[in-house]
Amino acid sequence: MQTRRDFLQKMTGSVLALSALSSFTEKKYEGPVLRVAIMGLGSYGTRVAEAMKSCTKAKLVGVISGTPSKIKAWQTKYGIPENNCYNYENFDRIRDNPDIDAVYVITPNGLHHNQVIRVAQARKHVICEKPMAVNAKEGQEMVDACQSAGVKLLVGYRMHFEPHTLEIIRMRKANEFGKVLFFQGLSGFIIGDPTQWRLNKALSGGGAMMDIGIYSINGSRYMIGEDPIWVTAQETKTNPVKFKDGVDETIQFQLGFPGGATASCLSTYSLNNLDRFFLDGTQGFAELLPATGYGPIAGRTHKGEINQPVTTHQTVQMDEMAGILLEGHQPVVAVDGHEAVKDLKIIDAIYAAVRSGQKVDLHL
Ligand code: NAD
Repeated sequence: MQTRRDFLQKMTGSVLALSALSSFTEKKYEGPVLRVAIMGLGSYGTRVAEAMKSCTKAKLVGVISGTPSKIKAWQTKYGIPENNCYNYENFDRIRDNPDIDAVYVITPNGLHHNQVIRVAQARKHVICEKPMAVNAKEGQEMVDACQSAGVKLLVGYRMHFEPHTLEIIRMRKANEFGKVLFFQGLSGFIIGDPTQWRLNKALSGGGAMMDIGIYSINGSRYMIGEDPIWVTAQETKTNPVKFKDGVDETIQFQLGFPGGATASCLSTYSLNNLDRFFLDGTQGFAELLPATGYGPIAGRTHKGEINQPVTTHQTVQMDEMAGILLEGHQPVVAVDGHEAVKDLKIIDAIYAAVRSGQKVDLHL
């Protein structure tokens, strides 16, 4: 007969064996590692660098910055060799550096177009932050530049690798919500310092829509699983001093999808507590609350709470992107330049709908 002690001993043995196995498998990774240089050592660049410390398949090996003191600090902190440090004038020379595979562009939106094209011309893969560009035309030029240089272009859509999000996508594909007919996306926060680049049209390309509204745009597409065919939009501005011409404070927009679903979304720089996705179908619903913040992401469906692991989004994103760039993996939801151009076409159409007051057709 098995005693409690036998059982505990066996359990301890298995736990030890399991942890030995997992540390063995961790050490065992001998596959390709993506060697990344980060361009733009600001707040999000720092978050990505910290998260990359826990990556298995991606490693921070270089920096591109206009501030020599930041370069020194990052060299010390992340063990970056002198040969892998560049500034905005000389980074084209990265072409001659065999120790860097990809550059992650994490600068203000309005700079992405030029910087991504220069990285492509230096024959390195590019990862670019969202929004990839400030309009679809620039976005398409970036896609074309990467294609003709023979490098890949990915965009920092970290939610495409987030487990709660992926579980809802799995359920939708398995028809567990029935016919999906409605999505609501709420994206917003109160923006502080009025002098920051996010409120400067030349650097931001717009306002809240470019920065945070894009989460509801992109989210409506991966939650519903289709691309929209029309958009309507309405803008309100309560503070024209802080939010100058071309910098949107609040826009509500609606999207129509080919299968009959509609999306109703809010993008704003003037309210907190807005980070929620809600998907409704004829047989069930899904809610993510919060839906796109750094986490922990939480959610529920008509079947109950979504139990999925809480991850550091940027760690998972960079490991998965290494798999895409080096091993040709296919993500569940696309993270390439074409995907980003679709979002930019929707943003262009939202701005056009605000100006005209008319419904705008989309051809994605
Ligand atoms: P930030 O202001 O903190 O950092 C921007 C960096 O770019 C700074 O290091 C700054 O020195 C540098 N820079 C280079 N040229 C500049 C110029 N001409 N003007 C201003 N700064 C210049 O901004 P951030 O929050 O790190 O955002 C950078 C990018 O990352 C943006 O595209 C933003 O949308 C994106 N972002 C994405 C996420 C996400 O979750 N995926 C989160 C935050 C920011």
